[in-house]
Amino acid sequence: MFNAIQLEKNADNATVAAVRSLDDSTLPVVEPGAVSVAIDYSTINYKDGLAITGKSPVVRKFPMVPGIDFAGTVTASAHADWAVGDPVVLNGWGVGESHWGGLAQKARVSGDWLVRLPASLTPYEAMAIGTAGYTAMLCLLALERQDVTAQAGEILVTGATGGVGSFAVSLLSRLGYRVVASTGKLAESAFLQSLGAAEIIDRATLSGAGKPLQKERWAGVVDTVGSHTLANACATTRYGGTVTACGLAQGMDFPVTVAPFILRGVKLIGIDSVMAPRAVRSEAWSRLATDLDRSAITHIARTVDLAGAIEVAKEILSGSVRGRVVVDVNA
Ligand code: NDP
Repeated sequence: MFNAIQLEKNADNATVAAVRSLDDSTLPVVEPGAVSVAIDYSTINYKDGLAITGKSPVVRKFPMVPGIDFAGTVTASAHADWAVGDPVVLNGWGVGESHWGGLAQKARVSGDWLVRLPASLTPYEAMAIGTAGYTAMLCLLALERQDVTAQAGEILVTGATGGVGSFAVSLLSRLGYRVVASTGKLAESAFLQSLGAAEIIDRATLSGAGKPLQKERWAGVVDTVGSHTLANACATTRYGGTVTACGLAQGMDFPVTVAPFILRGVKLIGIDSVMAPRAVRSEAWSRLATDLDRSAITHIARTVDLAGAIEVAKEILSGSVRGRVVVDVNA
């Protein structure tokens, strides 16, 4: 038996979440290359908030165990790459959406979806980083590939107090970039400064409708919120600069014109963590192991149990959660 959050639909077609004790035989069948994992930690991401509350149809079948990421240890393997005892991390691949996920003590997944946990990271640290930190690293790698160096100019990070945003601020500032953090929580300015933000701006300056081209400022952008904020970020990016778009906390719309792209050569790079190839994942996790300031983890993360995770899932959609919430599935 193992404990898990399970999502079901009630008679009114509403999603109901509860902590349940499940039999091992209920774990999904995986063919070929099944790997069983004893999970140490999972987390609550924005997408988990959508799944657990049912606010958006991210869950494709019921009953579902949510949780788009986990860290743990292999307990059985039918996959050539994995042996019992290997420490692993998983992000995405539809886990927690179409395949039972990480908010549980056990999982059975395809070995193709797993990444070896770098030796210098503990399972707790891996999940404090989680999909948010991994996605922030994908944004950083994309900026680097476009030659946006620390000397190139200022970097804007939007949704800065969120999971992706706070890791982006921390990673970029540690590498010497001048980071400007956009937030709706100006009361959290000290938190953002402790992560390395050089300047903090009110997100209201970016979230309304703006002109197609505005004063050039950013060499690079990590945008986690989409909508008008992403449009304004493009309109204020310097000639030849790069905008990475990974999120939609403000909205999925993108009310932009082509002006920044055809008149300033601005590059817009989409970031997807869910289906990213294994080589990219491994690069991101090894860079996280070397580049991340470990003390940032204690600033950014706090821990809850499985029951607490259901409550946090409701809070995260209101944008009121600061940093990352790690779930100790064995607490
Ligand atoms: P969080 O909820 O932790 O952070 C989102 C932040 O966005 C909030 O903390 C808040 O920051 C800001 N925000 C919230 N609501 C609004 C709003 N209405 N207008 C403007 N800003 C707002 O989420 P995550 O950091 O986990 O994820 C951020 C986004 O990235 C989500 O949309 C998520 O779905 C997406 N994502 C995408 C991935 C991918 O593979 N592309 C992977 C991981 C996440 P503040 O108060 O500081 O402004």
